[in-house]
Amino acid sequence: MTEQAHPEWDASYTAGTPAPWDIGRPQPAFVRLADEGRLTGRVLDAGCGTGENALLAASRGADVTGIDVAPAAIARARAKASERGLTARFEVADALDLGRLSLTVDTVIDSGVFHVFGDDDRARYVASLAAVLRPAGACYLMCFSDQQPGTWGPRRVRAEELRAAFSDGWAVESITADTFEINPVDGTTQVQAWLAAIRRN
Ligand code: SAH
Repeated sequence: MTEQAHPEWDASYTAGTPAPWDIGRPQPAFVRLADEGRLTGRVLDAGCGTGENALLAASRGADVTGIDVAPAAIARARAKASERGLTARFEVADALDLGRLSLTVDTVIDSGVFHVFGDDDRARYVASLAAVLRPAGACYLMCFSDQQPGTWGPRRVRAEELRAAFSDGWAVESITADTFEINPVDGTTQVQAWLAAIRRN
């Protein structure tokens, strides 16, 4: 993983206007998870962007690490932590190679990252998550859903694809219809998502 290898992601954080997903507050679905007491212990936010969901978990007392390939996103996440007086680690790293971090966590958050990977990287990503999540640890993953009409945005994911990706070494506990809030795109501020709760065996 190098900064140069992912210029397109960094560019999405250095443009004048925030990217559609970079809403400046945590996703409501993750606020609900936090309210249910699920974002606890050592938490990794994989592909954390500018860190809103990671900082949500940190504000509730979790020991949080956020990683992203975009240095500009990590810089912004660090600045937010400091502005808000919150403690969290933010590092530039590749979600496809988490084993290199020498990290073990109780909980993983994925808000809008699984759906960026192509078929080949999907298997790599799931193996990478397994390398840092302790046995019986939980992964909460929200991705674009096939129920979202149109072609704008990332690839749509079917619930069966999630089940297939996590079929070996994991227990998919629930997949529920949810929504991403986004900055307006053609007047749209919400898109259909799947929220999956997945436990590592
Ligand atoms: N979770 C954030 C960002 C979602 S957008 C949020 O909810 O706001 C997808 C994010 O994945 C971007 O920040 C992008 O930089 C990051 N990303 C893409 N490929 C990655 C990879 N291989 N490793 C780590 N992060 C990656």
